[in-house]
Amino acid sequence: MDSLHEQFIDNQWITSRSDIRLAIIDPYRETPLGEITRGDPSDVEAAVSAARRALPGWRATPAAQRGERLVAIAAGLERRRETLASLSSRNNGKPLNEARQDLDDAIDCYRYYAEAAAALGERQGRREDVGQPGLAAYRYWEPVGVAGLITPWNFPMVSSAWKLAPALAAGCTVVFKPSEVVPLPEQALCEIVLEAGLPPGVFNLLNGDGQGIGAPLSQHPGIDKLSFTGSNPVGEAVMRAAASGVRPVSLELGGKSPIVVTEDADLTLARDLVIAGICYNAGQMCSATSRLIVHERLADRLYAAVDDAMAELLPGDPLMEGITLGPLVNTSQQERVNRYLAQAEAEGLHSETPTPPMPERGCFVSPRLYRDVPTTSQLWREEIFGPVLCARRVTSDEEAISLANDCDYGLAATVVSGDLNRADAIARRLEAGNVWCNSDQLAPPQGNWGGMKRSGIGRELGQEGLEAYLETKRITRPVPR
Ligand code: NAD
Repeated sequence: MDSLHEQFIDNQWITSRSDIRLAIIDPYRETPLGEITRGDPSDVEAAVSAARRALPGWRATPAAQRGERLVAIAAGLERRRETLASLSSRNNGKPLNEARQDLDDAIDCYRYYAEAAAALGERQGRREDVGQPGLAAYRYWEPVGVAGLITPWNFPMVSSAWKLAPALAAGCTVVFKPSEVVPLPEQALCEIVLEAGLPPGVFNLLNGDGQGIGAPLSQHPGIDKLSFTGSNPVGEAVMRAAASGVRPVSLELGGKSPIVVTEDADLTLARDLVIAGICYNAGQMCSATSRLIVHERLADRLYAAVDDAMAELLPGDPLMEGITLGPLVNTSQQERVNRYLAQAEAEGLHSETPTPPMPERGCFVSPRLYRDVPTTSQLWREEIFGPVLCARRVTSDEEAISLANDCDYGLAATVVSGDLNRADAIARRLEAGNVWCNSDQLAPPQGNWGGMKRSGIGRELGQEGLEAYLETKRITRPVPR
């Protein structure tokens, strides 16, 4: 068992005032992997003070030099790739290959924002026309200040990279709170930032839960910017906290994303994209395409193909090569999904998915496709966060689009079609921040990520991800003769 993880403030490990410890559990072996402190508001106070002290120095550091530190962080992650992937797989339950993919995505993200930092340095003081003779304006970008960053458990190292890399590139100092459910992979960042030569107070990590750390952090007046990824109820609480002091807030929240399949789609491609969209990470994805909307002419064949593919998944020890379905992250997530399965039974929903032989231990849920689910069903409308797919058949693209958009969320969508122009026409009308046509759910660092409607506010990744941590300043003055 790993040791107790406390607070990393000012480049040192500090003992929390809280004496409550939270056990970190391996969801396959159902054994403890370590412990973290629950955290205490006094930890937030100390971390915010450290970040405030470090801010003037870090914001004055040339952006290209900040970028060099990000390159060093990427290198630190790369050196530990295999160890961290195993740890992530054990803590989260995701198959090892998925954890490796997470590490690669995180490394790419730090490298991308290293380049973005260098480019930011180059564009400072850009001269702009003001339409008045003898006058010119000069544009500068400054860090927002101290950023409070809060992440969930489903994509360890990735959700944090999407916030830490742009925040540090922008010149913000940070107080980062990983999820208390899967905090272990991110602990390595503390050692990595030391190796990378980040000055004390630039990066602070607070372990703990929502009460011990999350709420006090989002309410702390010394935090200038909040960036939160997680559930909608907590996102709303963070947004309310941000209202005090009129502080900017970025929110990456839930989803109930559609996958639209037209009748001319390639059946194998459609099946594979449907399966990846609901079974990757055991369906614990904000962007899970959990509503299948398929043309009636393909529906029965696709339903059968998806059922077969679900039954062929290989559940088991996520650390074993070849395993394609890991356990859910913990028993409470398993119970939550099982409640939806019980609800499906109560609603009389129809499923023909065979149950694959499940391991005798671990928080597993067997994947399920429910056919022709009424739109009034709780399962059709609510985010389940497990390998549970609801399907409906439609007779036209028009009907598919309106069904897809009849949803409170707007995070992502997939379109599968034999005709790319048709796919594009559908994609253009879907209310979602990301739409993939005949493609896997890619989220490269140069792209953007975020949702419409209740899926959130703002965008991560790409240039927009950097802007989220910057303030723009314009200085107008006479042009020197
Ligand atoms: P959660 O909202 O329960 O927790 C997220 C984080 O918030 C954790 O670190 C938690 O400790 C912290 N927290 C809890 N209470 C808090 C409070 N009062 N104030 C501040 N912080 C608090 O979410 P989760 O269960 O960890 O993750 C699952 C949810 O995250 C799903 O709804 C999923 O859709 C969403 N998610 C969204 C995205 C996206 O990019 N849109 C990505 C991943 C996950």
